[in-house]
Amino acid sequence: MRRSGTIIIRGIVQGVGFRPFVYAKAREFGITGTVKNLGSEVEIHASGERFEEFLEAVSRGTPLSRIDSVDVYNLRGGQETAGFTILESGRGSLTGFIPADVAICDECIADIFAPGGRYEGYWATSCVNCGPRYSIITDVPYDRERTSMADFPLCPACQSEYSDPSSRRHHAQTIACAACGPRLSLLKADGIPLAVDDPIREAAALLDEGSIVAIRGIGGFHIACIEEAAEELKRRLGRTEQPLAVMAEPEEVERIAVVSPDDRRILHSRERPIVVLEKRDPESHRTISRLHTIGCMLPYTGLHYLLFAHLDHQLLVMTSANLPGYPMITDLGIALERLPGQVDYILTHDRRIVNRCDDSVMRGGYIIRLSRGLAPKREAIDLGDLCILGVGPELNSNISVYKNGFCVTSPHVGNVRNPQTLAYLKETVEKIGKLTGARYDLVVHDLHPQFLSTRYAREVAEASGAELLAVQHHRAHIAAATRDECVGIAIDGVGYGDDGTVWGGEVFAGEVPYLERVAHLEVVPMPGGDLATRFPERMLYGILPTGEIRDLLASRGWSEMELGVISRQVERGLNVAATSSTGRVLDAASALLGICRERTYDGEPAMELESVAWAGKPSVWDLEFGRERGCEFLSTRSLMTEAYRRLVAGERLADIAASVQFNLARGITAMAIGAAEERGIPRVVLSGGVAYNRAIRETIQSGVLAAGLEFIVSREYPLGDGCISFGQVVYGGSMR
Ligand SMILES: [Zn+2]
Ligand SMILES: [Zn+2]
Repeated sequence: MRRSGTIIIRGIVQGVGFRPFVYAKAREFGITGTVKNLGSEVEIHASGERFEEFLEAVSRGTPLSRIDSVDVYNLRGGQETAGFTILESGRGSLTGFIPADVAICDECIADIFAPGGRYEGYWATSCVNCGPRYSIITDVPYDRERTSMADFPLCPACQSEYSDPSSRRHHAQTIACAACGPRLSLLKADGIPLAVDDPIREAAALLDEGSIVAIRGIGGFHIACIEEAAEELKRRLGRTEQPLAVMAEPEEVERIAVVSPDDRRILHSRERPIVVLEKRDPESHRTISRLHTIGCMLPYTGLHYLLFAHLDHQLLVMTSANLPGYPMITDLGIALERLPGQVDYILTHDRRIVNRCDDSVMRGGYIIRLSRGLAPKREAIDLGDLCILGVGPELNSNISVYKNGFCVTSPHVGNVRNPQTLAYLKETVEKIGKLTGARYDLVVHDLHPQFLSTRYAREVAEASGAELLAVQHHRAHIAAATRDECVGIAIDGVGYGDDGTVWGGEVFAGEVPYLERVAHLEVVPMPGGDLATRFPERMLYGILPTGEIRDLLASRGWSEMELGVISRQVERGLNVAATSSTGRVLDAASALLGICRERTYDGEPAMELESVAWAGKPSVWDLEFGRERGCEFLSTRSLMTEAYRRLVAGERLADIAASVQFNLARGITAMAIGAAEERGIPRVVLSGGVAYNRAIRETIQSGVLAAGLEFIVSREYPLGDGCISFGQVVYGGSMR
């Protein structure tokens, strides 16, 4: 029986109330000694009769912690102390844990609404179990002096609670109250403050009247309004088609959408992401979302709870205050520059947002956007001794850093096509690099030579003397899902292929880093290149360059000249890219059925096709396959021909839409199963943005399972391009 020892606990042990927890256990078991935060490990010196019980208790951790290992060593002489003390933090091995922001806990909500209490009505109430973390951190270890809370010295009441071992705010780094903490103010859009006693109550009244209000939250600015003002908001933002998310209390969310037990758990989780749910009535709330789905989130800060307490409306439209793909606005100065014209008022606070963090988004248990609450994400994975940076692709980017057995993935960065987002990418690399103490040996980037992220990777490699590695986009998708031998299906919009064509409907076989392309969708022309993405009718003609389609386009207002140009483009291959993209086939079907003729936001034609197909009943169509340069392919021309034939025959649009999705998925599944059986591979992996489409994913899943194969879809990383930086790192770490 041990009576003393030095205990090293590694894992997620900072920003999770670990030291006060250890302190409480030491008191409970009559242990003397010290506890110290070293960043990604906690060091405890402990002595006492009940040491073993103490050890067992601390090994269980706190609700927010995650323990990787517990090691016990002999206590060296001179470390015996009287009592038990929490020591100043030191800097340990930095295996890369940076705590993510956590939604306000139930006890803090109760404090806010407790009449006469110290925290009554205080918007930034938090404790060791909740509140902002990553968004306020300037460095690790996580202590108040290394957060933007350092600007708010504790009042005597907060100080005494901070020092009180029996309090939930014992050593709570974010402790603050109305007397000493960050304050709210309500401004007109031009920055002139309104003289009001209670900015939240006033903001709620303005929202109820239909005003559009920017709200500075944890990780950036939201723009909020009631449903009746949604059209006006979209008009001002110039985003008339794009679905917006809503914030509402649980009963309201259940009223407007179908919430599965799994979705309910995620909605209420301390990460509090936006959850994309199927509406109860697909035709409802169309000013917010024209799709059959709607993104919903519950309030997640004291400010939100207070806002809803004062609000007469049940639901607020909430969208990030930035252009899609651009960094979220965090700074009041920038908000005042950009938001007038979009909002009427600004509800802001005086706490700096150190690290920007958008809302996370999930659908059906799968991550669409890895951000607030979920990121920085830390994954234990053995990729060897090199320190590796993955800079991601171009769209929906984030970055990943691998070091010493852990990979840390940053929150969502955005579309690295514009200098602003590129600057944010660089800033993120610098921040995560600093917080993990990274010194890169290897920098991994996309195969596309022209991406800004590729050029940036070269700069980092040059500056740090690291090696460079290019990884093909869809192989990175598969690597993010598994390192086991597999047949990998990657279905998405676009990715630069080995042969310089645009890939996006790919089947691989093998094992990371040896994934061989074995099948794909038919390679078809994209007339006008990127223009075919914006105007899906161009894609339709690329797939079906027939007189009938020319007549159809003419009937929709295409001029003789336009038709002549596109015909010549396709015939002669002028200004035409070649693609096997799944997204473009869905776009073309959406255009054929007259559902979407111009894409105004990412994924719009395919998402609207999915919504129409939602009400349809698919039928089994004949599929055609071919072979080209050693690869099998599914003929999307024959698929589209069949869809056209049924359109002309007057079949219901919903049924045709459902059948296009169903038969495309069947064809892809058949190729994957064929590849698995031919090679004796027992599992199929699915990734790519198209995998968010429930009908397509479930068709592939049931086909693969019916063939007796294992089916893997990642719930740990996004299926879309938010998994690429992690996949790049995995690929890089496997190249030996
Ligand atoms: Zn709390
Ligand atoms: Zn205080």
